[in-house]
Amino acid sequence: MPQRSSDAKEVFVQRGLVAIVPGVIILVLAIVLMVYSETFRALAVVLMVIALSAIVYGIYEFNLTRGVTTFSVVCPFCQSSNSFTEEPRNDVRCEGCQRAIPILDGRVAQVFQVRCGFCNELNFYSEKSTGLICESCDHEIPIAVSEQVAAARATMDVYTAKEDDRPFDLILTGVGGPHNEALISTLQHMLALNRNQVKEIMQSTPSLLLSGIPKRKAEMLRTQIVQSKGSAEARPGSP
Ligand SMILES: [Zn+2]
Ligand SMILES: [Zn+2]
Repeated sequence: MPQRSSDAKEVFVQRGLVAIVPGVIILVLAIVLMVYSETFRALAVVLMVIALSAIVYGIYEFNLTRGVTTFSVVCPFCQSSNSFTEEPRNDVRCEGCQRAIPILDGRVAQVFQVRCGFCNELNFYSEKSTGLICESCDHEIPIAVSEQVAAARATMDVYTAKEDDRPFDLILTGVGGPHNEALISTLQHMLALNRNQVKEIMQSTPSLLLSGIPKRKAEMLRTQIVQSKGSAEARPGSP
């Protein structure tokens, strides 16, 4: 995950302040000492040198903020601008709306809007989406997907012809290698976990990813895992 440029700049500003604030205070003290006391004039000079060096160092740190490179990513959902120190390669979270901004081949993926047919809530999906579940009511919203995805889901539907409203569990059974970046990224989104947490989960399969979710959601998430070269099982949860 690339670093936010605002975070990178903050580090330099903080270091600058830590030097400049005491620097200025010492400088004022040194000047007062210089003016009002003959005896401590030598000490005043020493203090002044220390104070000036601290201030110069602080200004140097402030200047480093200008060297921070920024790549701006405009959120396709809420239009807020997010700045990073490097070009994002994977999806990044938007500071404005907390949604994941889909990144495809180094650019922001195209995003589409659709209203849920059940509750009329406005939902978003991107050209990377393999399926869409309403943010508000958990119903599936039909979207246009690539042929490959459609085929994978058609086979899936054969086995799920009967509506099943038992709560389902989603279990990760295979990870397709320890460095499967696609799967790491997919699971990060699915579970809202960080990279290390996801890697831990991937080390101990089979592992329960989610429980008590609607069957359709479990099946859809399973498809996403399979597309990331992992394997998973969606099965009815124990009551
Ligand atoms: Zn946003
Ligand atoms: Zn809905």
